[in-house]
Amino acid sequence: MARPTVEDTIAAIATAPGVGGIGIVRISGPEAESILQSLFRRHRRSDSGTEQRAEQPDFLSHRLYYGTVVNRQGAVLDEAMAVLMRAPQSYTREDVVEIQSHGSYPVLQTVLSEVLAAGARLAEPGEFTKRAFLAGRIDLTQAEAVIDLLQAQTSGSARLAMEHLQGSLYSQVNAIRDGLVEMLAVVEVAIDFPDDDVEILETDRLLEQLQGQVQQPLRRLLALAEQGKIIREGVKVVIAGRPNVGKSSLLNSLLCEERALVTDIPGTTRDTIEELISVRGIPVHLVDTAGIRDHDNAVEGLGIERARQKLEQADLVLFVVDAAHALTELDRELYRSLGEKQRLIILNKCDIAEPEQLEAINAEFSREFAYMAGNAVQVQIAAKAGQGIDALLDALYQVVVGTDEGLEELSCAPNLRHTTILQKALAACVQVEQTLVGQEPADLLAVDLQAALDHLADIVGLTTPDDVLDAVFSTFCIGK
Ligand code: GDP
Repeated sequence: MARPTVEDTIAAIATAPGVGGIGIVRISGPEAESILQSLFRRHRRSDSGTEQRAEQPDFLSHRLYYGTVVNRQGAVLDEAMAVLMRAPQSYTREDVVEIQSHGSYPVLQTVLSEVLAAGARLAEPGEFTKRAFLAGRIDLTQAEAVIDLLQAQTSGSARLAMEHLQGSLYSQVNAIRDGLVEMLAVVEVAIDFPDDDVEILETDRLLEQLQGQVQQPLRRLLALAEQGKIIREGVKVVIAGRPNVGKSSLLNSLLCEERALVTDIPGTTRDTIEELISVRGIPVHLVDTAGIRDHDNAVEGLGIERARQKLEQADLVLFVVDAAHALTELDRELYRSLGEKQRLIILNKCDIAEPEQLEAINAEFSREFAYMAGNAVQVQIAAKAGQGIDALLDALYQVVVGTDEGLEELSCAPNLRHTTILQKALAACVQVEQTLVGQEPADLLAVDLQAALDHLADIVGLTTPDDVLDAVFSTFCIGK
């Protein structure tokens, strides 16, 4: 159900700040076309190649025009292309104009000022998308997907956002709502015709329907939330180990470029370094820590403190040891300090490590640390030469995702807002189940079913309170 749309005309620079080949000023609302008419002069080339002012006054919808943007005094501000997209075939379902001018900020600001002087109001963050939502072109999950798509860090997060934009979550929530509506219809008949001779309310059938069409899909969606979070936000992976074991070299190999400082002097990575990489589509925030050890150097001390904080925030630790030498007391101490953290043990410098040494380290981890690490995976690499990095990434992916199966197939995953509501809907369904099992009056059932339906309506934005809508759209940038 579409909410009433706002009647004024809004405008904003739709492209990102900075220098670009082109930049776009976008206008939406009833005045869009007249504003275009007032400040855009169409040109067309004559056969002789000279440019002429076009005579044709009306703009055709969805056609790109070449011309100039002029101010109120008729002075040319920029050469530009312009397109008018008449309602309802537009992003907002209103008349939309996009003026493509040169992509420098002063030019775009000047064009925007003229548009505002011609009668438009500066759009609020996300207002174009909000209008698309209010006009009923997209539901709230799709509007949220627009933000996710704009903020996507990896191909995986972009793909998931695109699935949501195409309605994957919307359709699943709707299928669950359909199940609830069907049940409610049956219950309402029972309320309207309380005929003792006819067993209208077939409790078993309703219970079956509740479980199959409502509770199971709700639980499945909730189970997907965790994986969705991984794809959307990624995981924090901290590279830890004593100085000189090859942490910076490992980071460099993972980044495929030399960014961190690598030297032979222990503890040269004074502070922590953070980088983002994509591991099979998952955003992985890599943190290289300064070597944690006893110290008397104040600057390094700062780095060590930060390293400890990073370790606490880590979802996974890559614990690096030098496989060319026996484990030291510091290795053991650091390893114990990981506590319950999920970890991969990285045996580095395998290119110069003796097989017996590797075996000894392996054995020590299995023997000494088995009780704390469970079956922590060990990966052998030679960070400097980039050997074993693929196997390391595979192991990392497996540990993070918790399964060998990929997240590539994940087409739908609720975010925190959805999850909170889905949990409330599930709680209402548990109530429905208890009422059914307890053979309680049908009108009690109707109340609980309606409660579950109301929650699901919130997810897609049918009944979402204005403050929640404002919170969703305020996370957008202006111009989207
Ligand atoms: P960090 O202090 O743990 O960050 O260690 P670095 O990455 O700075 O490496 C310390 C030293 O070990 C440097 O001289 C590296 O060149 C060397 N190193 C790192 N990885 C390897 C490796 O895989 N094989 C060998 N042979 N040397 C390595």
